[in-house]
Amino acid sequence: MDYKRYFRDYPDQNGFFGPYGGMELPPELEQACREITQAYLSICQSSKFISELRRIRKEFQGRPTPVYHCNRLSEKLGNCHIYLKREDLNHSGAHKLNHCMGEALLASYMGKKKLIAETGAGQHGVALATAAAYFGLECEIHMGEVDIAKQAPNVARMKVLGAEVVPVSAGLKTLKEAVDSAFASYSKQYKTAVYCIGSALGPHPFPMMVRDFQFCIGEESREQFLEMTGHLPDAVCACVGGGSNSAGSFAAYLADPVDLIGVEPLGRGAAVGDHAATLTYGEPGSMHGFRSYMLKDTEGEPAPVYSIASGLDYPSVGPEHALWKDLGRVNYVAVNDADAVDAFFKLSRYEGIIPALESSHAIAYAMKWAAEHPCGSILATCSGRGDKDIDYVIEHYGFGEDHQF
Ligand SMILES: *Cc1c(COP(=O)(O)O)cnc(C)c1O
Repeated sequence: MDYKRYFRDYPDQNGFFGPYGGMELPPELEQACREITQAYLSICQSSKFISELRRIRKEFQGRPTPVYHCNRLSEKLGNCHIYLKREDLNHSGAHKLNHCMGEALLASYMGKKKLIAETGAGQHGVALATAAAYFGLECEIHMGEVDIAKQAPNVARMKVLGAEVVPVSAGLKTLKEAVDSAFASYSKQYKTAVYCIGSALGPHPFPMMVRDFQFCIGEESREQFLEMTGHLPDAVCACVGGGSNSAGSFAAYLADPVDLIGVEPLGRGAAVGDHAATLTYGEPGSMHGFRSYMLKDTEGEPAPVYSIASGLDYPSVGPEHALWKDLGRVNYVAVNDADAVDAFFKLSRYEGIIPALESSHAIAYAMKWAAEHPCGSILATCSGRGDKDIDYVIEHYGFGEDHQF
């Protein structure tokens, strides 16, 4: 595989990353996705679009986010160096705004009036409501009633930002039903609205588009790391839920001699229903309009999933990661709840950075890597800040007195 040519070949014209990806949709939604694809492919080349996105990133989002050397944490673990790409310092506290601003800018170039999406824990809904407020677009967020009850602060943030939160009462009243409800609403109003997916997944062009909007993570970190140290890191790791922060973190390093590690949530363990480690335990399959790896139950339906980090519990994964796994370019590993919580406390106590529980999975892996290698450097993407998780963590784990070196 010649990774210098990679972006010319993947995805192909029909949105395939090798056997994965594509667009498996009813005709009216397929038409809508084709319109978004065409608009994106022409608009993303225009210098006006590129320079406007650059200005927004700098002035509104606060990019570039820094790369930070974890001095105290590294010393505790031996002779390796752990670095973080600080996406937690992105406006609104996570990497999700990177693609939401891109998707909303595209929508306004297409002359659309409204953004539609689903949200699980509410992180994507808040990021999209932020983007909609910036551009003066309407915003319609579908959310399961169970999640609405659990995630009251994010529901409040969305409403304060001016979004309409649509409660979904079907089925288990969580993310899967919210996706179905958002798709159904979108298919009725695609002439005036754009669907904005929350990760690098779904039908073409979303996996490609979201990866491109998240590319700034790796593009910046590569340059920053070189400037700081004079060389590239030995390894780059990031947590994998749907796969957006990791795709953006990895894509800039594909042609480099750098190990890439995607960290999935092992939750409570390897039994079905106890984790959401799709690439570690799943098999090829289709859901939500695309083909990728999937966790299936005995009937072949999407399996129930669990992680302490609600942003990681999805029974499939972005199709580009499925390709990277098969090519052997990215190594996928799984970290359980207990190790993620340990990393949450240690990064907080030894560096003064409280990471999101999602990001804590990547940091736990970086700590393990540092403890196992005699020397070298690993760069972990800190995808978001942990304020949202504090109440849950202290209720279940206290203040972390047991998590010290
Ligand atoms: C949503 C979320 C994730 C997981 O999403 P990806 O698409 O896999 O990046 C990770 N970290 C944070 C902080 C999130 O909010």
